[in-house]
Amino acid sequence: MTAHPVQANRREASMATRVVLDKVYKRYGELQVVHGIDLTIEPGEFAVFVGPSGCGKSTLLRMIAGLEAISGGALLLDNQRMNEVPASRRGIAMVFQSYALYPHMTVYKNLAFGLETAGMKRAEIEPRVARAAEILKIGPLLQRKPKQLSGGQRQRVAIGRAIVREPNIFLFDEPLSNLDAELRVQMRVEISKLHQRLGNTMIYVTHDQVEAMTMADKIVVLNGGRIEQVGAPLELYNRPANMFVAGFVGSPR
Ligand code: ADP
Ligand code: MG
Repeated sequence: MTAHPVQANRREASMATRVVLDKVYKRYGELQVVHGIDLTIEPGEFAVFVGPSGCGKSTLLRMIAGLEAISGGALLLDNQRMNEVPASRRGIAMVFQSYALYPHMTVYKNLAFGLETAGMKRAEIEPRVARAAEILKIGPLLQRKPKQLSGGQRQRVAIGRAIVREPNIFLFDEPLSNLDAELRVQMRVEISKLHQRLGNTMIYVTHDQVEAMTMADKIVVLNGGRIEQVGAPLELYNRPANMFVAGFVGSPR
């Protein structure tokens, strides 16, 4: 049995996907950067990966998305092995920092472009863009170019580009790190609302402990390509497994 027929039907069957990493390793040549990660993210969960720069957060996300090969172990989405399944067939959309918008395209085109290149018809694209615009309140901005938008508006468009793909899983790689402090707080709330509304499994990478503590159902603390601890925010806060975890999610330093 191949994974593809299941993949094609997943959206109708259930929107939220279970993500399992089974002893996942990553090597870049001789350099091992992820060391046998075991992790389960439940359907509909908002999981946050935290840890210092270089600990492997982006590498893990990119392996889940299919943008980077897995060197060892397995990635399972709803019990289907995904290691060899191309990115476009995983039902995943990834949100980067807002500067990843196409500068020469309108907001509408930024949202529609990925669907067009995937061969989708205009009649299907238009309602998807309209729905994303409604969710993110960017309807009035559709004919603007990115440089005519504020930082927060740009970030909404970046999220919209993921929504139009109607993915089963959203991955966010430090999406707010370019924004000023006030906007970060606002967007944090909006992404949490988006999660409540859509109910998808979401994995969110940050090095900001406040983001992790306020947004997560489950926090995964990473260090040097290994998991230090996994748990609900309060669990980690009240019972950190070690000094490293305490330093990351404990009382403000
Ligand atoms: P984080 O997102 O937590 O800051 P990364 O996942 O980007 O960390 O990087 C983890 C480690 O892998 C780092 O040591 C980084 O230098 C290394 N790394 C990342 N991408 C590559 C690559 N394409 N080639 C070689 N090493 C890489
Ligand atoms: Mg990173």
